[in-house]
Amino acid sequence: MTTAVSENKTVLLGMSAEDIASLLPEYPKYCGAQIYGFLADGKGFGEMTSLKKELRSYLEERYTANPVRILKTFEGKDGTKKYLFGLTDGNLIEGVYMPHDYGNTLCLSTQVGCRMGCTFCASGLDGLVRNLTAGEMLGQVATVNRDAGGNSKNRAVNKLVLMGSGEPFDNYDNVLAFLDEVGNVKGLNIGERNISLSTSGLCDKIVRFADSGHKVTLSISLHSPFDEDRSALMPVNKAYGIAELIKSAKYYFQRTGRRVIFEYTLIRGKNDSDACAHRLAELTSGFPSHVNLIRLNEVKENDYAAPSADAANEFLCKLQRLGVSATVRKSLGSDIEGACGQLRRRYAEEING
Ligand code: SAH
Ligand code: SF4
Repeated sequence: MTTAVSENKTVLLGMSAEDIASLLPEYPKYCGAQIYGFLADGKGFGEMTSLKKELRSYLEERYTANPVRILKTFEGKDGTKKYLFGLTDGNLIEGVYMPHDYGNTLCLSTQVGCRMGCTFCASGLDGLVRNLTAGEMLGQVATVNRDAGGNSKNRAVNKLVLMGSGEPFDNYDNVLAFLDEVGNVKGLNIGERNISLSTSGLCDKIVRFADSGHKVTLSISLHSPFDEDRSALMPVNKAYGIAELIKSAKYYFQRTGRRVIFEYTLIRGKNDSDACAHRLAELTSGFPSHVNLIRLNEVKENDYAAPSADAANEFLCKLQRLGVSATVRKSLGSDIEGACGQLRRRYAEEING
């Protein structure tokens, strides 16, 4: 599932200003900081016109500025824009830009594919290809920010959700390196208050993350309040059951003070019964949390069906009557293959015949 290999040079995006400066001992140190800033703006070396021409050519010959390039975009009626990105080794990933009046959000990928194997998700169908580097995550942000008209003074992307393809905690070290860098005020400058990370529930990593000092909004993909049903939807549940998952969610709240979001994709006849609503209410009570209901984005690779909008609202009302803080997430971009992993698969099918 790759496009032609284009280049294989050291990537500068993701390096600190000091590291960049140390690659250029013949130039003044401030060049490192300048290049760092340009990279965050999504500029290529040729566009770094305040650098000497010979330095630009030197960089061009030896390094890659940004490892992410836009291959295709698809615009939805609601302003959502979906990106198909190419990486330097030819792999493909996706991102979705969602403009909102309270801030523009980018949903970005953390892995090429995913090995968690959730049965309703298109991202995991071919397993994991590889982890993304911190530079490839930063590259998605810098690229979309630029494409959406942002610059160093006024970023177009203000919020991030790590909810594209991949399981962020299966790529723990690179995701943490990304979080450390994306908040840099001299770079992309997106603070942790404006970042959400979604996990399928790797409990040991949730605990480790809670202890790491990072304070992003943690979303946990729950999708069923019963172990047997959850294991059928999400094989990860066989390793970390619901009791342990709730325990780690509570721990995350205790350590960070941030309420935990539970994502709950409604699948008709699978997790939308009265018994599910009651059990879900029990599980999420007793600590600050919120349930985000999502109507399944149907994918052609499986037979799961989405409940009607009315049925989803009914489930929401049940939860609310039981005292649960809950909302139904507006499904953005469903007219442009909004669901996780669909675009990459469709495009790969096209180019591979
Ligand atoms: N791997 C992480 C983050 C990426 S998936 C996780 O699973 O949490 C982001 C969210 O999209 C998850 O809540 C996931 O369960 C959900 N999702 C995946 N496929 C979907 C589909 N076809 N319809 C609706 N939600 C889906
Ligand atoms: Fe991976 Fe998340 Fe898809 Fe599950 S839902 S296969 S964890 S990307």
